[in-house]
Amino acid sequence: MNYQEALTKGTKILKSNKIKSFILDSEILLASSLKLDRSRLLLNLNNNIKKNQKEIFFNFINRRKKNEPVAYILGFKEFWKNNFKINKSVLIPRPDTEILVDQVLKEIKKNETKQILDIGTGSGCIILSVLNERKNSFGYGIDISKKAINLAKNNAKIQHISNRIKFLHSNIDNYYFGKYDLIVSNPPYIKLSDISVLDKDIKFFEPNLALNGGVDGFSKIRKVIKKSSILIKKKGKLILEIGFNQEINTKNILKKNGFYINRIVKDFSGINRCIVSTKL
Ligand code: GLN
Repeated sequence: MNYQEALTKGTKILKSNKIKSFILDSEILLASSLKLDRSRLLLNLNNNIKKNQKEIFFNFINRRKKNEPVAYILGFKEFWKNNFKINKSVLIPRPDTEILVDQVLKEIKKNETKQILDIGTGSGCIILSVLNERKNSFGYGIDISKKAINLAKNNAKIQHISNRIKFLHSNIDNYYFGKYDLIVSNPPYIKLSDISVLDKDIKFFEPNLALNGGVDGFSKIRKVIKKSSILIKKKGKLILEIGFNQEINTKNILKKNGFYINRIVKDFSGINRCIVSTKL
């Protein structure tokens, strides 16, 4: 069997299992099985696939056909300027979340030394991307999931920034450590009743802990804002990711907790996705 034949077969299996991106996914999974990049694969379609590579590839295809996201199968996801190790204990980093990184960077000059807290850090993708761009700043990342914290630490090590970041396994309720110039968070904000209508890729594979925002979708947003108002320095910035239609309520919660709203930033589909605010 050559690469082309393997691809055709993989594509067919994914298509018949209603995986929308069946061609791209087959190509990515085959390239990974062969340890080639995708362009190399596509330039060498007549090469023969080895037995062990074929086994790996069809094992990947069998996972993908049951809706497991490609990023979990590969074990990494590209975010901002790096590949992040991921697994099922963390959310897959989303392109929309890069907006948070961008907004944080707007608030910190290149050589400034700031103390930054990331609440619900997951893979660490937000805080590590920021620290990679701001070499004099220091980061703190907390997460309720011990497995997430282990993964984030691993990502810090791979990117050689372990000396400027502390990852701590902690619930936000029990965290009273430090005062921060800037706090960033992408909290779980999906309304409980909306979780069952999410894509199968998300609802069957991504951690409920990272998605579930309680009955009204605001339970974690509220917690993060309340606690941030204690942990943040005066004039410090709080930068939050929010979901569809959550802008007005979030603004009100922020105002009640002593924050001034600086701006709302839209995501790539035009949805209000990020709120930048300042503690008065
Ligand atoms: N953006 C994610 C989604 O749409 C949700 C992330 C979150 O709850 N923080 O699935």
